[in-house]
Amino acid sequence: SNETYLARQAEFESNVRSYPRKLPLAITKANGVWITDADNKEYLDCLAGAGTLALGHNHPDVLQSIQNVITSGLPLHTLDLTTPLKDAFSEYLLSLLPGQGKEYCLQFTGPSGADAVEAALKLAKKATGRSSIISFSGGYHGMTHGALSVTGNLSPKEAVDNMMPEVQFMPYPHEYRCPLGIGGEAGVKALSYYFENLINDVESGVRKPAAVILEAVQGEGGVNPAPVEWLQRIRKVTQEHGILLILDEVQAGFARTGKFFAFEHAGIEPDIIVMSKAVGGGLPLAVLGIKKKFDAWAPGHHTGTFRGNQLAMASGLTTLQILKEQKIADKVAVQGEWLKAQLNEMKKRYPVIGHVRGLGLMIGIEIVKPNEAADHMGCFPGDGELSALLQKKCFEAGLILERGGRNGIVLRLLPSLLISDQDLKVFLDKFEQALLAAGV
Ligand code: PMP
Repeated sequence: SNETYLARQAEFESNVRSYPRKLPLAITKANGVWITDADNKEYLDCLAGAGTLALGHNHPDVLQSIQNVITSGLPLHTLDLTTPLKDAFSEYLLSLLPGQGKEYCLQFTGPSGADAVEAALKLAKKATGRSSIISFSGGYHGMTHGALSVTGNLSPKEAVDNMMPEVQFMPYPHEYRCPLGIGGEAGVKALSYYFENLINDVESGVRKPAAVILEAVQGEGGVNPAPVEWLQRIRKVTQEHGILLILDEVQAGFARTGKFFAFEHAGIEPDIIVMSKAVGGGLPLAVLGIKKKFDAWAPGHHTGTFRGNQLAMASGLTTLQILKEQKIADKVAVQGEWLKAQLNEMKKRYPVIGHVRGLGLMIGIEIVKPNEAADHMGCFPGDGELSALLQKKCFEAGLILERGGRNGIVLRLLPSLLISDQDLKVFLDKFEQALLAAGV
């Protein structure tokens, strides 16, 4: 039973992850957007392996592509050596990058998103000869030393917080809590001032950085889309100052936001694109897209063992092909707008819903205390306790959601990109059930 598995897991595993405590289920089966637990209870999965399973669970074409590798005689793992499969995967992935990838090359960096972030930071240092990095409040880039150093949110640093010293944080725009500020017209203008007047000014204490790293839509930070003009201005000033722009597309990439890459909303070309999660179609894989002119590595500069996972390249290639050829980004964009409109209707009936935002099927619902005094922007205080209760009530109603943002006040949706309109309605029903069960 579920209970037995959970008790045994508590015995076997250390407390390193919070998922099992928030979502107490032992999974026995999964198909599409549905998960079944050991007691045969079904859940609508709006987390999808933290966005990794872009096509949902056990997509038949993905499974078939993995089976094809197993029966083809290819090795399962090849270090950095190439195979016809890796060749096809590389060609296809490059073709999806800006300008059909003509100015880019790839670097396979290891199995996880954090691996790719580490490589990106090192490469920016190597390519510029500089050492500091600019990053943003609320940004999340992974749990390894360098990736955690450029992560803005302090809660992942709770255990160990003496990180890489030369990281400077700037504030990231927030649609709800700071609508006219950082991402507004004045904020966008101030960016140029910051870069042009402060960098390398002996009195400012700000060092000219090697790179700026950011997510075009922050995920763990509470689903924060960056305004287009803000991204464009950052691209412009980084270019003018010879600072590399690293876009972390680990979560927001691969049709998730209604464009193939989230930075495409702003029409910009990053110098380095960080890719993981969906790029491996559910199996571990991480890759950088690097503008060739910044490929400053010499052989041996950045090595690693697990970069040749043929199963992940097979499931990744199939996933990329389906996303691209079936124009899933367009479908996702329409569904996202519809879902936000429905949630905004619900917001009128449930004032604890303070704000609904996001792009495509990367949506955040900020939970607030509507009976307390609003701040100078007219925003109510966030309610982390209620959002935790709502996550629990959703779970009881058979709906899996994640939380993010400051104190976890944002309920986050990252479902399979193939989710049907019908299942989005099921989501809305279950979510309303949870609101009622929480007594709000
Ligand atoms: N970057 C972003 C934007 C992420 O969302 C994540 C994971 N949530 C990472 C990097 C780190 O990826 P991983 O957990 O695979 O190391």
